[in-house]
Amino acid sequence: MKIMVLNSGSSSVKYQVIDMEDESVLARGIVERIGLAGSRLKHRKKGEEELIVEEEVPNHNKAIELILKYLTHPFYGVIKDVREINAVGHRVVHGGEKFTSSVLITDEVVEMIRECIPLAPLHNPANLSGIEAAAASIPHAPMVAVFDTAFHQTMPEYSYLYALPYELYEEKRIRRYGFHGTSHRYVSDRAAFLLKKPKEKLRIITAHLGNGASMTAVKYGKSIDTTMGYTPLEGLYMGTRCGNLDPAIPLALQRELKMSYTEVDHLLNKKSGMLGVSGFSSDMRDLEEAADKGNRRAKLALDMYAYMVKKYIGAYSAAMGGLDVLVFTAGIGENSWLIREKSCEGLEFIGIEIDPQKNRQMIGGKEGSISKDGSKVEVFVIPTNEELVIARDTKEIVESLKKH
Ligand code: AMP
Repeated sequence: MKIMVLNSGSSSVKYQVIDMEDESVLARGIVERIGLAGSRLKHRKKGEEELIVEEEVPNHNKAIELILKYLTHPFYGVIKDVREINAVGHRVVHGGEKFTSSVLITDEVVEMIRECIPLAPLHNPANLSGIEAAAASIPHAPMVAVFDTAFHQTMPEYSYLYALPYELYEEKRIRRYGFHGTSHRYVSDRAAFLLKKPKEKLRIITAHLGNGASMTAVKYGKSIDTTMGYTPLEGLYMGTRCGNLDPAIPLALQRELKMSYTEVDHLLNKKSGMLGVSGFSSDMRDLEEAADKGNRRAKLALDMYAYMVKKYIGAYSAAMGGLDVLVFTAGIGENSWLIREKSCEGLEFIGIEIDPQKNRQMIGGKEGSISKDGSKVEVFVIPTNEELVIARDTKEIVESLKKH
């Protein structure tokens, strides 16, 4: 079975074609700058150089057509005919409280994703455009939606509710949802697999530290708390997002500095985080390099980052009544031995003991343990693979259809 995985953003569509026989990626790529000047396709067939095609792509329909053109290309392609795509799996950002797991896309499901637009006004419309475009160009293939929020729907009410007037939850669904669920699910399952223990017996903290970043407490296979909230702005501070704040600060910005709603939104989402603290970059590599050369604010940004990760390790260990496994993933989690080392410093009292040698070597997409032999808590670095989870869920749902 060949599955196409689509991640449709407002101005980009990322794709992979995965052969489920051996779960290998036959081709992957991205259409960038949809609807903008300079749009292009970057396409890579397994074992080949990346191909870049500059072409006007005004909308998602054209993007999918372009992707299919190169997937079926006599040289760059990996299939002869579109009909070889057996199913399509879509990443959908927000499933609200409606979706607790992945689902087959029907007209009713499309409508329910549309109803979640107020919760993700930038993401869900783009996801729907991708779904509609794929339905038009690949009409024979069943499609599945895999939600970023679904994994966190197991959080108990006391964990997901904000202490706001309860009506705001009842009427406007204002609550913690959490994101990166597909990644947290993948790495926590994978950790249990690597340990050869059932996930139902493990208390795991997953730290997805990328450009966007979140941590999750996964108790006995279920998310019970996560750092991102109503939106992906809460929790850890990120490349350009501020993370946790005193909620009075945005009010003060409006009142004292006379900033508009749009300006505050821009400041918190695009000008804060690593960029805001360092004053020059949102990229962890730049911060590490500058800190190494003695840049005070870059060093401060690193210290703040590691401190914040450490605080959540403590909080989530308490929330779960103990800790068995800590997992680092995504760009920073998979590559920055420094952040991992600093975040785990002084946590021996929880049972976390990092092996400095193993930790420094576990970079560049490697998977494995970085804890000392005998450390009570196992610490893993596990490269995330959201596309594979989407493909697996899609396969499972499509196969269950055939049985009925
Ligand atoms: P992601 O969103 O998962 O692609 O992660 C992007 C983040 O990972 C950026 O902050 C990068 O600076 C960071 N990153 C990637 N490679 C490295 C590296 N070798 N060392 C430190 N940070 C890295």
